[in-house]
Amino acid sequence: MNRLTLGALAAATALLGGAAAAQQAPPPAPAAPNFAATEITATDLGHRTWMLQGQGGNITVIAGDDGVIMVDTEFAPLHDKIKAAVGKLSDKPIRYVVDTHLHGDHTGGNQAFSLDGATLIGHANLRRSMAEGTTNALTGVKTPPAPNGALPSRTYADRMTLSVHGRRAELVHMPNAHTQGDTAVWVPDADVLATGDIVSVGARYPNIDVGDRGDIDGIVAAVDAFLKRSDAKTKIVPGHGPLMSRDDLAKYRTLVADARDAVAKLKASGMTEDQVVAAKPLAASVQSRADATDQQSVSFVRLIYRSVGG
Ligand SMILES: [Zn+2]
Repeated sequence: MNRLTLGALAAATALLGGAAAAQQAPPPAPAAPNFAATEITATDLGHRTWMLQGQGGNITVIAGDDGVIMVDTEFAPLHDKIKAAVGKLSDKPIRYVVDTHLHGDHTGGNQAFSLDGATLIGHANLRRSMAEGTTNALTGVKTPPAPNGALPSRTYADRMTLSVHGRRAELVHMPNAHTQGDTAVWVPDADVLATGDIVSVGARYPNIDVGDRGDIDGIVAAVDAFLKRSDAKTKIVPGHGPLMSRDDLAKYRTLVADARDAVAKLKASGMTEDQVVAAKPLAASVQSRADATDQQSVSFVRLIYRSVGG
C-alpha cells in the first residue's frame, strides 16, 4: 500500500458514494486527483497499439479494422477525455474493455464505456470481488459492491483470446498476485504486455491487496512468467509509471524479491509483524531503489509479512 493508491481508493470510494470507515489512521492522503486539469497522453507502441496516461492506472489501446480493445479505464470522471483520446487514434468503436484488476483507478470508467457499447471483460474472481465489495487489509477502508453495470459481463478462468478484425489480445490470469483476479494482457503482433498493478513503478512499491487475497509470492511468480515470455524488444505497460523494457522488469523483479526475502527471513525467525516493521528490513537498500518513503516501506513490510510463504 502506498499514499498514491490510498488516495486513489479514497477518491474512488467517494465517487461511488460509499462510506469509508478507517479502523486505523491511513497515511496522509494527497489531494484528490484534479480530473478537470488532467490531460490524456498517448505513447505509440507500434502496430496500432498505444499506452494512454492520465490519472490512475495506465491504459492500453489496441486498434483493429472494425473495433478497439481497451485495457483499463482509469477513473469515471475521465471517461469523456479518454474516449476522445481513443477517438483520435481510431475511428472505430471500443468493442471490449478488459479490467486488469478491480481497483477504482483502473475500473472507474467501466459503466460509462459499457453504456457506450463496450463489452466488459475480467477474471471471474474480479467480478465476484467487485460484486461483493472488498476491505483493505491495512486500513480497513471498505470499497462497496460495484453496481451491476460496472461488472464484467464476460469472465474467464485461466486464459482467453479476444479478437477484433486484424488484432488479437491474449488474457492470462495471474493467480493471487496484486489481487486474486489479476489479468495480464499480451498483444503478440505489437510485442506488448500490459501487466496491471502486478508491476507498478515510480516512487512507489507495488500494492498487495491482501484483503482480496493478493500475495507477494504471487507477484514474484507473475513477474517471472512475464520475464520468461518477453524479450529485449517487448514493450511493457506497467499498472502505474512509465513504459518499461525487459531490463527494467528484471530490476523490478530483483527489487520485489529482495523485499520479500528480507521480510520472510525475519518472519521465519519468529518475529511479530510489528517487530519486523521496527527492524526496517527495507531501509538498507530496497527503499532507495524504489524511491519510496518510510511510510510506504512500513505498509509494504506489513503486506509482505501477511502474505509471504502462505
Ligand atoms: Zn491496483
